[in-house]
Amino acid sequence: MTHHTHGDSCSNACCLKIQNLSVDIAGEAILKNINLHIHCGQMVALIGPNGAGKSTLLKAILGQREYSGTISFSAVGQRNRKPLIGYVPQSPAFDSGDPVSVADLFACCMSKRPTFLGVSKKMRQKVLTCLERVHGTALIDKPIGRLSGGELQRVLLALALEPIPNILILDEPLSGVDVEGMESLMEMLDEIRQKYDLSILITTHDFAMLPRYANQVVLISHEVLRQGTPKEVLQSPEFARAFHRKGAMEA
Ligand code: ADP
Ligand code: MG
Repeated sequence: MTHHTHGDSCSNACCLKIQNLSVDIAGEAILKNINLHIHCGQMVALIGPNGAGKSTLLKAILGQREYSGTISFSAVGQRNRKPLIGYVPQSPAFDSGDPVSVADLFACCMSKRPTFLGVSKKMRQKVLTCLERVHGTALIDKPIGRLSGGELQRVLLALALEPIPNILILDEPLSGVDVEGMESLMEMLDEIRQKYDLSILITTHDFAMLPRYANQVVLISHEVLRQGTPKEVLQSPEFARAFHRKGAMEA
């Protein structure tokens, strides 16, 4: 799959365009006038303090939250086609005693056959193909409650990649993952971004990862405070103010 962005122009590239997006919940302005362009093959990191409206913005893009303004997607030769979106929600918790295996989880998400009938050979093969995309075939028989934070994110990522979406959205995929796991998850996202020419939108509080992996960082607190390269945003006075940091962050 090949695709090339042409500078900043959206005319020849595929692009998710968010214009003047606002969300009110119970009369309170949660998001005000958000403007954002995400090109294919780009990773954009959405950062901001707790309660800034990050998850709300993701939900608006997913169509799970009412909003005013416009969200449009255009691909080469296909304007305003509805994009396929893959979504990894914020830290779902599974009971450590949960006997459901990774294969069972996939089967119940992907087939109409009741899970108590077991996973068919064909489905198992399909699950392996999905797990292969995240180098996670070894996880297929593990109970989901026993997965490490990083392994769980990998499995959820594999689910979100079936079918391969245009846009991949992950809400705080790095929380609950140890440093080693964070590195390998970010490497994986980077590989997937390039391989499938995906737009990836993540929210995170792990700013140290951003200079290496994000193409664009957007700092929000109900409105966009600053957006630009990781370095520009992390060294900005807006960032220091939003996170009450005295010095600018090293980037
Ligand atoms: P973040 O993900 O940046 O931590 P959220 O988008 O989850 O922030 O929340 C932003 C604000 O919107 C918070 O003040 C939160 O309380 C409020 N909010 C989010 N969802 C709802 C909801 N369903 N009902 C009422 N308030 C909500
Ligand atoms: Mg959130």
